[in-house]
Amino acid sequence: MFSRCNPSIRNRRNTSKDRLLKQTKQQERKIVWLILDAAGYEITTRCIQSGVCPSLSAIQTEGFLGSSRPPHPNCETPPALRALFSGSEPAQSGIWGYQMPDYEGRLERAVSGFGVRISGAPAIWEELERIGRSYTLFNAAFRRDPVWGKGYAGFDLLLDGYRSYRPDSSWMRIDTGKERLKFGGTTLRVESEDDQVRLRRGRRSIASLTPGEIRSVRLSPKVSAVSYSTGKTLFLSSSSRPHVRLSKDLQGRSEQIVPESIFHGNLFRFSRNVGGLSIDEEMGFSEYVNTQMGELALNVVRKLRSTLTILYFSLIDELSHVYLDQIEGSWPEGRAADLLRRCYGLIDSYIGKMMDSLEQNSLLVLSSDHGQVPYRRALHLNDLLAETGLVRRGKTGYDLRRSVAYYHPANCGQVVMNPRQANKAGLSRERIGERVLQCIEQANGNLGAEISYLWGGENDPYLLFLYPRADTHLTGRYDPEADVLDAGLQGGQHLSPLCPTPWIQAMLGLWSPAGLAFDRQRIPDHNADVKNFLLRYLFET
Ligand SMILES: [Zn+2]
Repeated sequence: MFSRCNPSIRNRRNTSKDRLLKQTKQQERKIVWLILDAAGYEITTRCIQSGVCPSLSAIQTEGFLGSSRPPHPNCETPPALRALFSGSEPAQSGIWGYQMPDYEGRLERAVSGFGVRISGAPAIWEELERIGRSYTLFNAAFRRDPVWGKGYAGFDLLLDGYRSYRPDSSWMRIDTGKERLKFGGTTLRVESEDDQVRLRRGRRSIASLTPGEIRSVRLSPKVSAVSYSTGKTLFLSSSSRPHVRLSKDLQGRSEQIVPESIFHGNLFRFSRNVGGLSIDEEMGFSEYVNTQMGELALNVVRKLRSTLTILYFSLIDELSHVYLDQIEGSWPEGRAADLLRRCYGLIDSYIGKMMDSLEQNSLLVLSSDHGQVPYRRALHLNDLLAETGLVRRGKTGYDLRRSVAYYHPANCGQVVMNPRQANKAGLSRERIGERVLQCIEQANGNLGAEISYLWGGENDPYLLFLYPRADTHLTGRYDPEADVLDAGLQGGQHLSPLCPTPWIQAMLGLWSPAGLAFDRQRIPDHNADVKNFLLRYLFET
C-alpha cells in the first residue's frame, strides 16, 4: 500500500516512528534522589512550620513527607547511606560506623566506614547496571564499591568529591602579622593593607580580599582553597580535586560538567568556640560552598537525564553536629535556630529548582540517612575500664593492643574484646562483658550518664553495643585534660536509632510533577526498604 518511492510517505512514517520513540523516552520513569545528610523528620518539619521552606512545604502537601527509620544498631553516615542504597543493615553490609574498628587489620585502629570492604545486597545502581539503565552518582559512592572498578558502563557520571579531601588538614586560619602557615614547603602569611588583606606565598602576593569577601584562591599550581577575610583574619578551607568517571559519550564534556575542584568547609565550629562572627559572616562561607554543590547538582539533573540520579548534601549534618543541643534547647529562638533556618532556606531553594527541572514522569525523592540527637557532655568510658584493669594505660594514652577489652576509639558504639589478652588473663567473654557492664552501671548511677547496651550476637564482631538514652556522648579516645564525664563538649550525634527521641528519625519525601503514581500504603517507613520501593517505581507498570 505504501510506495517505497514516495518520499513524503517515507518521511511521514519516519516522523511518526521518531515521535513514538520520543514518547517512550519521555514516559520512561526517572528518579532524582536528593540525600540531605541528617535532615531528619523532626528537624525538617520544624523548619517547614517556620515558613522558610516553600519547596519542602509543597512536597509535604502535594506529595509525601514522613519519618523513616535509619539502620540498626548503628546509624552513622556510612552504614546509614549503605542501608538506603542497598537495603542492607550494618550486620549485612559490614559497615559499622563513620569510623569503625579495623577488622581486617589491627583491631585497635579506626578506619573510615567509606573505605572498608562491603558485603550484603548490591546497591541500587548495580541493579540498573545489570539491566543497562543509566545512573549518575554525586558523592554517593563508597571507595570499594565495584562501580568504581572495570566492567561498569551504565553510568553517565560518577563523582566523589571527598576521596582526596583530608578534613584534618583542610582548615586553616591566619591572623595578620602573627599566624603563618607552612604550605607545600613555603610560608603563607597575611598582611593588612588599608581596606583589604593580602595573602602572600613566600614573597609573592597571591590574593587580596576586602573584608567579608569570599572567593576561590589558587595556593599553588595544583591546590586551590576557599578564602574568606574578616579584615584581620583570613580563613582558608582547602578544596579537593574530584575523583570522576564519565561515560564514553560525555568524556569530551568533562570541563563543562565537573569543576576542577570541589569546595568544602564551614565556619560553624570556629564561630561557636571562638565567636566574633555575625550570622551573615558565618553563613556566607557555607552559602558559597553549597552554592557550588547546588549548581553542579542542578546542572547534572538538567543535562544528563540519567534514569537514576543520586545527589548528596552535607550542610544540615555539618550544622547539627555543632549546634543541635542549642537548636533543641531553644527552638524556635536563638542564633542556632536562625542558622538552621538559613541552611534549610538555601537547600530548599535548590529543591525548588530541581522540582522545576523534572520531567513529567520523574520522581523526586528526598532522604535523610538519619536524624541527630543533642549531647551536652561526653563520657570517657575507657577511663572507667582502666580502673577495673580491662584497659591498660601506656605512656601517652591507652595501650589498646595490651588491653583485654575497650570502648573502641572509632566511637561507633562498640566495646571490643582482644582475644589474646583475654586468654592471657583467663577471662571468658561473659565475664569480661559483665565487668564492662559494672562500669556502665557505675557511670549511670554515679555520673548520670544513662547508657544502654546490647550484647553482640554470635555473628557480630563486637562484645557489646552501647548507646545513649539521654544527652551523653560516648568516647573511646584519650584526653588527659578531660574529666571522666566531660561537660565541655556539646553538639549533635547520630550513633543509634535506639536513642529514645524523635530527633533521631530519618525522613523520606516524595514528589512528582505528575502526582504520586503509586499506592501510598507501599511507601516505606524504614530506610532499608527504600531501595526496593524505588526499583518497583522505576520498573513496575
Ligand atoms: Zn549522615
